[in-house]
Amino acid sequence: MENVVVPTRYTYCDNVSSVSYATRLLARSSYLIIDCEGKNLGGTDGVLSLMCIGTERAEHVFLFDVLALKAQPRNAHMPRRLEHILSNPAVRKVMWDCRNDFLEVLGQYGVALQGILDLQLAEIHSRISVRGEKEWKRMARLAAGGKRLPLPLIKQNPDLFLGVHGLQGMDACIKEARLVVTGKDPQVVAMHKANGSTIWLERPLLPQLLQYAAHDIEMIGALYEYFKQNLWIRPSNEDTLVDQSMRYAYSLYYQGRVADDHIFGSSSVLPLDILREPHGLTVPCHGCRRMLSLNCYTIYRQGRKIHSRTNLCRICQIKLLIKQVNYPVAWVNVSF
Ligand SMILES: [Zn+2]
Repeated sequence: MENVVVPTRYTYCDNVSSVSYATRLLARSSYLIIDCEGKNLGGTDGVLSLMCIGTERAEHVFLFDVLALKAQPRNAHMPRRLEHILSNPAVRKVMWDCRNDFLEVLGQYGVALQGILDLQLAEIHSRISVRGEKEWKRMARLAAGGKRLPLPLIKQNPDLFLGVHGLQGMDACIKEARLVVTGKDPQVVAMHKANGSTIWLERPLLPQLLQYAAHDIEMIGALYEYFKQNLWIRPSNEDTLVDQSMRYAYSLYYQGRVADDHIFGSSSVLPLDILREPHGLTVPCHGCRRMLSLNCYTIYRQGRKIHSRTNLCRICQIKLLIKQVNYPVAWVNVSF
């Protein structure tokens, strides 16, 4: 028998009364699920179209039409109460790859989301701490998914790839977890491929797109439940995961918006100094512009003393390999 797809229920918020109704319900939820849709989010020409927020278990899903609400006075489209909820570190925000959404909400509303729990990071964390994955599996994951990182290259450069993890997409995670939840609507995925993300700027928005956005919240909610059931997220590691998630949220902040083809833009590998807090001397990367610990770079030692480091962090060097770009990597003297 064919699976019956039950559409996700949502409330579309494009005026003052719907926003205040949403805010009242969101304020009562023990945690929020957040995901944004728009044109090229995080890019130089990025435009936020929908800010989607769900209550616990996605029981209520609100789609804030950012473009429609722009015409309203500020206290109507981003009431103080909602701003407080979003910026309150005590209110958990469950997200999947929060980086671009964080930039967009900050750019649009001047609100830095706090208390983020990023499931994309929790998935990586669980590989070692719960699933006991070994080094060969870490390397296999890096080489998988058409990342243009052949396994022999990874094996031949153990120092470059030390502690580097491949990122997983939401759909791939749902498949791996064998969750009984419908994945992304293939028709909308095809529309994205054919017309790009500008489809999110059209008004009225196609019902299929609204449904797609609401369904993303439902999928994140289902993953969160699965992660808790399997102890990938538990009371003892949740605070650590939030600290890591906040570092992840800010990881694109220093570089700011970049063009799609920017060689040091985001990639399919997890940046360094996210799972571990930066420690010791921190120095700037010429590529991603982050201040990073020395072990995030290729290091040249004279005896036991660190003499110099590369101007690019190891992740930015890996981006050059993935994008097959010739870019001069220089040595910078290290002085303590
Ligand atoms: Zn870098």
